[in-house]
Amino acid sequence: MSKRKMLSFSQFIKRFPDEKACEEYLFNVKWSGGFVCPVCGCRHCYVIKTRRHYQCANCRHQTSLTANTIMHRSHVPLLKWFWAVYLVACDKRGISALALSGKIEVCYETAWNMLRRIRSAMEMRDEHYILGGIVELDDSYFGAKIKGKEGRGAGNQPVFVAVSKNEKGHPAYLKMKMTPNVQSDSVESFICENIGLASTVQTDGYNAYRTPLGKGYFHERGVFTPDGELLRWLHHMIGNAKAFINGTYHGTSTKHLQMYLSEFCYRFNRRKFAGDIFDRLFVAIAG
Ligand SMILES: [Zn+2]
Repeated sequence: MSKRKMLSFSQFIKRFPDEKACEEYLFNVKWSGGFVCPVCGCRHCYVIKTRRHYQCANCRHQTSLTANTIMHRSHVPLLKWFWAVYLVACDKRGISALALSGKIEVCYETAWNMLRRIRSAMEMRDEHYILGGIVELDDSYFGAKIKGKEGRGAGNQPVFVAVSKNEKGHPAYLKMKMTPNVQSDSVESFICENIGLASTVQTDGYNAYRTPLGKGYFHERGVFTPDGELLRWLHHMIGNAKAFINGTYHGTSTKHLQMYLSEFCYRFNRRKFAGDIFDRLFVAIAG
């Protein structure tokens, strides 16, 4: 696979010099085969230039370029949205609301709100992907450590982590989901939603995995050791996710943890498409 390079900022500015260029790009992402009325399906429209709206020639329904996108009803110019998406896409470590607000010259609250919407688009994109083949599964704990507790359950927020592996045994696709606990019922709902039946699932010997994975999965249990092969990739990625969250966002409250976990997974799952990540992210946002 040939890897395209991410656009440099000067290339990006040339590609999107003004609102009009952003509008054209957004139009093509939204209606790649030309305008289609969301009400009657008619393909003809009139452009209401003053309001950037499109009126269906048949039923007169009015729609805007940003309707049903994360930019809907936002007062931020499209150009700033494009810069924000570019900055999120091109910095592997992610960008904080404080850094974004300085770079695109919006207030902190606006930057925070824009990032929240971009991350929710990332999350939605991966939501329905089902892992299959050989999958490593474990639970991990994020957030501050609970006093006096060591080992399993030492942190305050349990998270299920699962990664599918390719034929070479390397990680392919990653999922991380917060869970209220790591009891059998929670294991069952996580695997039902995220791992396809008949997959081979590798876990450590923790008892709560035994019953749910006995129903329609091939369950391989072993003893986890830090230097062993079992769950090697998965623990590597948990370490990276913790570094990502602590490094960029200086830790996070449980309230926003899922958002950052989803961003980490989104980036990991598209690591081979670095040059296309802006366009891919934009499809997620405008789709
Ligand atoms: Zn219509």
